[in-house]
Amino acid sequence: MSQKSSLHYYEDGDIILIVQDTAFCLHQNYLSMASKVFSDMFSCATSYTADELHELPRINITDTSSLAFENFLSFIYPQKYVSITWDNIEEFCRIGDKYEFISVLEAAEKFLEPHFRENPLLSLILSDRYYFNFVYKESSKLILNELQKYRQNSQFLLLSYKTRSALFERYLDFTISITTLHSLKQCKNFKHHSLCSLVKHEQEINKWYDTFFEKYERLNNNTNNIIMLSPSKSMSIIIKCLMEFWGDYINGTWSECDYRFFNDYLAEQFVNHFGKFEPLKYEKSKKDAEHYMFIELKD
Ligand SMILES: [Zn+2]
Repeated sequence: MSQKSSLHYYEDGDIILIVQDTAFCLHQNYLSMASKVFSDMFSCATSYTADELHELPRINITDTSSLAFENFLSFIYPQKYVSITWDNIEEFCRIGDKYEFISVLEAAEKFLEPHFRENPLLSLILSDRYYFNFVYKESSKLILNELQKYRQNSQFLLLSYKTRSALFERYLDFTISITTLHSLKQCKNFKHHSLCSLVKHEQEINKWYDTFFEKYERLNNNTNNIIMLSPSKSMSIIIKCLMEFWGDYINGTWSECDYRFFNDYLAEQFVNHFGKFEPLKYEKSKKDAEHYMFIELKD
């Protein structure tokens, strides 16, 4: 025998949903407007259950707890209010997805957008499952930056195989880029300006690469000898080394061909070598924002 829900048993309701031991008396019109699945379910249920006692049609919901379902109803029902939190977001998304309550999934996505930094792994799991593009990309930045730590979390396996593969692939690419940093000099393919004194400039550029590598090794060793740096920290060092050369440009000692090398060629060569890195969206305007690698949802 089920008991009436204290929050969602409306005397003027026209459908009863039973979840575990709780009965919810609700309005078919209202639920049907919000959910295609409920709409289809009601059109079947009303045709057979009403009996001679004029009972309302009843439907058993078996895949959730009565408390979770009550919270869920409080979210979607007018005049009741419950907000999405880390404690209820998984269940909200699951019911919202199963019964196609689009507005609930949209609200979950809205919740994650400013909050994903508090729980990047769960944010990535949910955006992987329910296709939240923005949160997927942003939370992947934080996961990739500490992949060693996050992959030891048992929840890591809740990510889809596709997402886990994409994370490992991106991380591996980065590791290879770091270990083959010196190849940038060997595979250089720079086209000098037509007015450039070729031989001299070529020597200068080779010298520049050597200076850059020295600087990089030194900073890298100073920062950390034992543990491999996080990708954003490694990238900060590389950006720092590159930026120091800009001082010469500001002091006016660059030729036109120098400018072409540093500004156009080198920037492209580094992006090709390391793949894309960018700050968190919310930190883009911050001075010295850290740069992260990321993965994106594909359609
Ligand atoms: Zn030149």
